[in-house]
Amino acid sequence: MKKSKLEETEEKSEEILEEEISKELEKKEIEKERKREILASWTPKTKLGKEVKEGKIKNIDEILDAKRKILEEQIVDYLLNLKSELISLGQSKGKFGGGKRRAWRQTQRKTAEGNIPTFSTMAVVGDENGHIGIGMGKAKETLPARDKAIRKAKLNIISVNRTCSAFDCSCSEPHTIPFKITGKSGSVRIVLIPAPQGTGLVVGSELKKVLKLAGIKDIYSKTFGKKRTTFNLVKACINALKKTNIK
Ligand SMILES: [Zn+2]
Repeated sequence: MKKSKLEETEEKSEEILEEEISKELEKKEIEKERKREILASWTPKTKLGKEVKEGKIKNIDEILDAKRKILEEQIVDYLLNLKSELISLGQSKGKFGGGKRRAWRQTQRKTAEGNIPTFSTMAVVGDENGHIGIGMGKAKETLPARDKAIRKAKLNIISVNRTCSAFDCSCSEPHTIPFKITGKSGSVRIVLIPAPQGTGLVVGSELKKVLKLAGIKDIYSKTFGKKRTTFNLVKACINALKKTNIK
C-alpha cells in the first residue's frame, strides 16, 4: 500500500527531530569532555581558580559582575566555550606595492649578530553569546606570539549586553546593542548604533570578527580618525562594547 503524502512528511519530520536531538546530545557530550580535559590538567593557583574548579562558581558573569580579576586562563576556558580569531594588523611587504593585510606585524631589532625579527599579533576570543576579549602577543616566532595573544584575550574577557532595541524592529532576540555607544582609542573614535534584524554588521572586516564573536548580529557604525590603525579601531570597539553594561 502506498503511503499518503502526509504520512511521508510526518515520518520525515520525525527523522529530522531525532537527528536534532542526537546532535544536541552529542554537543553536550563534547562540552562535558572539554570540561573534563581542562579539569584533569589544571591545578588552580588562585582563590578564584579553586572556586571554579570546586564548582562554587558556575557562571562567568558572577566573576565579571563582582569585578574579580581573572589570572588563570583555565577559568575562562572552563566556564565558556570560546572561539578565537586573529586580527590582521600587519602588512606584508613585497612587489606590486605589498599592502595585503596579514595577522602578523613583523619588526626587527638590529644586533651585532644580525637582525632579530619579532612578531606581534592581536587575538580576539568570544563565545558568540555576549562575552568577548582581546589581547596582544609578541614573540620571536609566530605561533608563540599567537598563543600569548589568545591567553591574554581570555584574561581580558568582558561581557556585552545585547537586546533587541532597534526602534524599527519588533523581535525579541538579543541581536544588537541596547543603545548607541561610543569608544575611543588613540586617534580613533567609533560610534556603534543598534540596528533592526537583518541589517547585518555594517562595519569593516576586522570589526566584523569582533562583533560576531561577541554574538552581535546587527549593527550600524561610524568611525572617525585614522581607521587604518586596526589596533586602535578594535580597541575603540571593545571600549564601546564595555559601555553596554552601564545601567
Ligand atoms: Zn529585533
